[in-house]
Amino acid sequence: MASDIQHIVVIGGGQAGGYACKALRGEGFEGRLTVVADEPHDFYERPPLSKGVVTESEPLPRLFPKESLAALDIDWRRPRRAVEIDRAAGEVVLDDGERLPYDRLLIATGSRPRLPVAEWASLANVMTLRTWDDATRLKAKLEGSRRIGIIGGGWIGLEVASSARKLGVEVDVFERAPALCGRSVGPEVAEAIRELHERHGVGLELARQDIALGEEGDGRVNVVADGEAREPYDLVVVGTGVEINLELAREAGLVTEQGIVIDAAGHTSDPRIFAAGDVAQHPHLGLCLQSWAYAQNQARVVADAMLGKDAHYDEPAWLWSDQHGVNIQILGVPSGELHCVVRRDPQGPVFFYLDDENRLVQMVAFDQPRAIKLGKRWLAAERVLDPEALGDPDYNLMQLR
Ligand code: NAP
Repeated sequence: MASDIQHIVVIGGGQAGGYACKALRGEGFEGRLTVVADEPHDFYERPPLSKGVVTESEPLPRLFPKESLAALDIDWRRPRRAVEIDRAAGEVVLDDGERLPYDRLLIATGSRPRLPVAEWASLANVMTLRTWDDATRLKAKLEGSRRIGIIGGGWIGLEVASSARKLGVEVDVFERAPALCGRSVGPEVAEAIRELHERHGVGLELARQDIALGEEGDGRVNVVADGEAREPYDLVVVGTGVEINLELAREAGLVTEQGIVIDAAGHTSDPRIFAAGDVAQHPHLGLCLQSWAYAQNQARVVADAMLGKDAHYDEPAWLWSDQHGVNIQILGVPSGELHCVVRRDPQGPVFFYLDDENRLVQMVAFDQPRAIKLGKRWLAAERVLDPEALGDPDYNLMQLR
């Protein structure tokens, strides 16, 4: 381990910040480890916030048990915000004026929900979902709601729709695009997701380009979609994507594109500064993945690199979503001209997106985690596949191991 490292500062108390701290200690870093977090809570995971926290009143989904967290010996600054990175001095400046000198700095500032119209933030019964506090508020609001509207038919919107239906609440989803989750999956998958939601009684309004929200005298929310008013909703949840929290890095003069530009070890354009999680642009894909698996596993790799070890991140994109009791797993990112092979197994469909040489580029499986495991191997090996075999539910995929 490089001997010049006495103090590591991590900005961000989310999944990436948490796993980086754990990996730093796991790799033997015994110096001072300071975390600047703008939430008061211990590290927690976000996936349950739209699911079990809302439907089953699950407690804070802690990343680590209390004792393990205490063993990390973190010098917390929370709730505090970093307002400047002074690279010349090698210091992070906090909102209370404190200056934290660092030998290595990790930026894991994540992202925040994007509101299409800033004024929506002032409506009492319009909310976004990102934090534990948001989730507890959503849970409380759903308890008093008969029907809700959701703006955005992406992952947040669809997971909240599923949870609300489980609680017996009526739901309408308003999506700007003609298909659900259109940025991350192909039309065949989008159609399967649409069918799933319709089967569970979710009202879907696709290709609604112009949404206006307003407030009734009793606090309910008016939705006017492409000029047509709907009966007011008790609550509207907005899940229309995120803004990456890039400001600190930009103002510090680090190279940024969609996110902070990093190499496979998480180095930014400053050798003492690293980035991980949502804010760190994927080293090969050139986009911010915003997934649980990336935040966790890339952050671990970056922690190694911060200690001077040889490390590089090369996992394929992978995310999952649970909706109406169905586990949907997505492996890989669509790119280029692809053709889709659909396999209709009794457990659920699997969608293979292949390039013109029949190599796997993306795969989506409903309730078939084992198939995804195989897919990970095929992706890594750039294996040429037989589309006929893939699409035949009588053909055992395990033969292609
Ligand atoms: P998202 O998955 O990017 O979906 C946002 C959706 O809202 C898109 O379909 C988008 O359509 C639509 N939209 C944008 N502006 C709109 C408008 N004015 N009116 C109606 N629809 C509009 O983002 P998200 O659902 O907000 O989730 C936030 C982040 O958390 C994402 O990065 C997501 O991947 C992540 N997340 C992941 C999981 C998971 O992995 N299971 C779960 C929850 C959240 P266009 O494509 O046309 O812009």
